[in-house]
Amino acid sequence: MDRQSENVAKRDYYEVLGVQRNASKDDIKKAYRQLAIKYHPDKNPGNKAAEEKFKEATEAYEVLGDDKKRATYDQFGFAGVEGMGQGAHDFSGVFRDFEDIFGDFSGIFDSFFGGSRRRSQSSRSSAHRGSDLRYDLEIEFNEAVFGTTKEISYRRNDTCGACRGTGAAGGGGKTMCPTCSGSGQVRRSSGFFSIATTCPQCNGEGYVINDPCRECRGTGVVEKKRVIKVTIPPGMEDGRRIHIPNQGDGGMNGGPAGDLYVYIHTRAHEYFKRNGNDIYCVIPISIAQASLGGEVLVPTIDGKRVRVKVPSGTQTGKVLRLKSEGVPFVNNNSRRGDMYIELLVEVPERLTPKAKTLLKELAEQIGETESPQPKRLN
Ligand SMILES: [Zn+2]
Ligand SMILES: [Zn+2]
Repeated sequence: MDRQSENVAKRDYYEVLGVQRNASKDDIKKAYRQLAIKYHPDKNPGNKAAEEKFKEATEAYEVLGDDKKRATYDQFGFAGVEGMGQGAHDFSGVFRDFEDIFGDFSGIFDSFFGGSRRRSQSSRSSAHRGSDLRYDLEIEFNEAVFGTTKEISYRRNDTCGACRGTGAAGGGGKTMCPTCSGSGQVRRSSGFFSIATTCPQCNGEGYVINDPCRECRGTGVVEKKRVIKVTIPPGMEDGRRIHIPNQGDGGMNGGPAGDLYVYIHTRAHEYFKRNGNDIYCVIPISIAQASLGGEVLVPTIDGKRVRVKVPSGTQTGKVLRLKSEGVPFVNNNSRRGDMYIELLVEVPERLTPKAKTLLKELAEQIGETESPQPKRLN
């Protein structure tokens, strides 16, 4: 989600709720309740604008309704409460808040929304998509360059085979929860009000399992080891991920499975460095090769050696380019990057007496000076 552009368009939270900056907690709560009743999605089905207003008001209330968050917001604005109000993006959070706010006015609530709350309650407990999973896979440098297939094994929640995800053993099925009569909620009286809370016996599901499956203890899912093959395409870059649909956690109550994300980590190579699709390496040459020029055999990532011409008078640090000896492109394997060879002129450290004599002669020939001219830097 692009938070930046979202912030730009954000309205001040006080303005959203239509209250003064010094409004009391009660006023803020009242203001939010009015907006929430007006714009609640159940009351405005398919109305995107109303839904946005509902979310906006909920987000504002999440901050202004909380003394600490409100103080931070007053002092620092949106920057101070960044990420604090998640409810606006997470509908289950919104509904939880809704209960908090309207729990003590459930009579009003019901008359407005009829059975809608019960529906949202039961849909929450039915089909759940499984969680997405992350797997970190380390591969060799060359495996990333040319692609490979790896077998990975990981644990994921799978639909229980013994009860087929129902959570009930031997086809025993479910019975309406006796405590809440299937509503998923219980009410208790507190003075004038009746307060609705999640039913403790069925955890809001509205039903109880007669004979819980022993494999999964009635949850419908079991943790299982899974072994799959992951195909890494040629040209894969370090830190990228491969998206494998439906290989995450299994869904609950018939919901779809989550996805698996395999993050690729590439081990460093002894000789080669990679920059996108280009390969870089450093090749040492002698002072004679550098001065006279010649040819050197340079190893490439394919494992072959390529003859490379060193021009005469090569200075250390000179870079040569070998076209199309780099990494294949992920989207087009026939196309490859280039290879860059940096030549490093190495000065001999150990000299035979003959070599010493020759070098002294050479020095005379090329006219060494005791007071060299500094190189221009600018
Ligand atoms: Zn089971
Ligand atoms: Zn119950």
